[in-house]
Amino acid sequence: MIELISKEKIDSSVNRIANQINFDYEDRNPLFISVLSGSFVFLSDLIRKINIDIEIDFIKVNSYKNLKSTEKINFKFDLSTKIKNRNIIIIEDIIDTGLTINTIYNYFLQLKPKSISIATLLFKKDRSNLNFDIDYVGFNIPLDFVVGYGLDYNQKLRNLDSIFLLENKDL
Ligand code: 5GP
Repeated sequence: MIELISKEKIDSSVNRIANQINFDYEDRNPLFISVLSGSFVFLSDLIRKINIDIEIDFIKVNSYKNLKSTEKINFKFDLSTKIKNRNIIIIEDIIDTGLTINTIYNYFLQLKPKSISIATLLFKKDRSNLNFDIDYVGFNIPLDFVVGYGLDYNQKLRNLDSIFLLENKDL
């Protein structure tokens, strides 16, 4: 594996995003919605740098992709918090094609929040196809498969404290 993003760089990027959220959401009591599983490490570092009132909830989604590239997102569990009229911030680990965040965004939109924004640690901008902006981005990264800092390969490697490129010899 080759290190792509060091823990020091992750830390300063998480700091920058937290500072922006602290500024943008003062007195707005945002609801952070963490998309499991991958975003739990980012969420946990991010919220400890937040110094305004926030609330936190979780959703879990699974994406299945078949060879015909008909793609489907399954919600594994739903929110327990009401989001009507709330300022919500969706917390993602990575946006690749954008299919997952697009589905989640549209799902929340019909629940009529006051506002929606999105924070993602990693963004494969060159591949994603979205018709809305990503408000808070840690790093724009190449299209290679990455692991660590919450991101898995077959459920493993989430515990690495920086982000690595997986090479063929690692498979
Ligand atoms: P999407 O293509 O819908 O934007 O991304 C779907 C999901 O694929 C992400 O939420 C993430 O779980 C997974 N994914 C996409 N790219 C990577 C990657 O480079 N590494 C890992 N570990 N997961 C990825």
